[in-house]
Amino acid sequence: MGRIRENLDQIQNNINSACIRAGRDPSEVTLINVSKTKPVEMLQEAYEAGSRHFGENRVQELTAKMPVLPEDIIWHMIGHLQTNKIRYIVGKVKLIHSVDSLHLAQAIDKEAEKAGCVQDILLEMNLAEEASKFGSGDPAKNAELIREISGLSHIRLCGLMTVAPYVTDPEENRVYFRQLHDFAYGELRSFFPEKVILSMGMSGDYAVAVEEGATHVRVGTGIFGERDYTI
Ligand SMILES: *Cc1c(COP(=O)(O)O)cnc(C)c1O
Repeated sequence: MGRIRENLDQIQNNINSACIRAGRDPSEVTLINVSKTKPVEMLQEAYEAGSRHFGENRVQELTAKMPVLPEDIIWHMIGHLQTNKIRYIVGKVKLIHSVDSLHLAQAIDKEAEKAGCVQDILLEMNLAEEASKFGSGDPAKNAELIREISGLSHIRLCGLMTVAPYVTDPEENRVYFRQLHDFAYGELRSFFPEKVILSMGMSGDYAVAVEEGATHVRVGTGIFGERDYTI
């Protein structure tokens, strides 16, 4: 059995166990294979092992991989997005996880209108308020953003996303996952669809995120191994 298939099996087992601990149904949790920097051969291997959801953080890499891989792959844009690149992915990715400003939401709305589609998006929140990350951690600011975004007709706000700090003990991030969940299910609940998407949890902390209600976990290293940014 290949390494990627083994990793996927292990991660799915961990997700299932986390669901049992939390009294959740594992079918509520989507495992996004974060394949940035990895060659298409590795994505193909994950696909053959059953993976259908893939996430990339750069538009150029995403649009290069898309046409050479199976058509039934469901693509997720998870990285910071520049407005001039939106048109290359609108209507082609299932979900843009990384909307962090009204300016970006409006630009996506405009491109989606041109493309004749409604683009599903998530609002990215920076709950730990790390300077290196995108989005705001301020509840009032995020509430205002949600109200403004809800007025745009060619994007659909499906939920929230967060990139938690890099920690050695995943328990340290539980507080952020709980905050993201509670924010979505608080006074702004009516701005989200019946099935709220909570995109949270990465290789180091996805099990804790699932316990706290993640519907989508984004796992890269745990599936494909360490990334090499020098090549
Ligand atoms: C790279 C990345 C991930 C995956 O990180 P791993 O620690 O390798 O699992 C998840 N989310 C975002 C936004 C990323 O950029």
